[in-house]
Amino acid sequence: MSSSMRRRLVAGNWKMYGSVVRNQPLLEGMAAQAGSLREVDCAVCVPFPYLSQARAQLKDSVVGWGAQNVSERAEGAFTGEVSVSMLADFGCRYVIVGHSERRSLFGESDELVAAKAEAVLQNGLTPIVCFGESLDEREKNVTEAVVSRQLDAVISRIGAAGLGNSVVAYEPVWAIGTGKMATPQQAQAVHAFLRNKVAALDAGVGEQLTILYGGSVKGANAAGLFAMNDIDGGLIGGASLDLAEFMAICEAADR
Ligand code: PEP
Repeated sequence: MSSSMRRRLVAGNWKMYGSVVRNQPLLEGMAAQAGSLREVDCAVCVPFPYLSQARAQLKDSVVGWGAQNVSERAEGAFTGEVSVSMLADFGCRYVIVGHSERRSLFGESDELVAAKAEAVLQNGLTPIVCFGESLDEREKNVTEAVVSRQLDAVISRIGAAGLGNSVVAYEPVWAIGTGKMATPQQAQAVHAFLRNKVAALDAGVGEQLTILYGGSVKGANAAGLFAMNDIDGGLIGGASLDLAEFMAICEAADR
C-alpha cells in the first residue's frame, strides 16, 4: 500500500485550555469548515467538562471528538477517575493515551499506557497512542531505543492486531509546545522506524497504520511534514486552539 492509501488524520489536543464561551466559535468553525476536507479525517480531544459541548456542537459534522486521558480500570472506588466505558457510553470516538505530559508530569509508565490502550480498544474506541523521546535522549542518540521500548510495551499488551485499530503519534518531547519542530526528515526517520517495527510483526497492519507527527505543527510548517511518506497527519496542541491555524493544518493534510 502506498502512503496515499492510508487514512490521514489531523487531531487537536486542547490540553487544559478552554471555556464554554471560547470553545463555541472554535467548534462551530470546525464543524462548518471540515465538511470540505476530502482525504483527511479531523478530530478534537477536549477536557472532560467540554465533551458535552463537543458532542452537541459537532453532532451533525464530520469532526470526530474524544478525550485526552482515561483510566485503565473498568469501574470501582477510584475517585476522580473516568473509565473508557463511560467515554464510550457518552459517544466519544478517540482517546489520547500516553501523551508525554501524562508520562512525564503524571508518572505514567509504559505499562500503564499499554493498559490504557488495551482498555480503549476493548470498549471499541480508537486510542491515539503517543511515543517520543526527550531532548536528552535525542542528544544521547537513543531515540530509536526509547520509542522501541514504548511501542514494545503496547504491542505486548494489544498485539499488532490491536495496533490495527489504533492511531499512533510520534511526538518528540523537545518539540512539544516549544516552537521547535522536528525537521520533516527527522520525523520521517522515526515514523519509518516505527512502521517497519510494526510491519515486521504484521505487514498489513504496518502498511495501513496511521502515524501522526506532533510537536509545534502550524499552518506554515504542516505541508512539509505531510509530504513525507510515513507521516499521515498530525496531533496538534497549541495551534488547535486557533481555528484558522487548525484548519490550515487540516487543509495541508488534504492533498
Ligand atoms: C501536543 O500537545 O500533542 C502537541 C504536539 O503540542 P504542540 O502542538 O503545542 O507542540
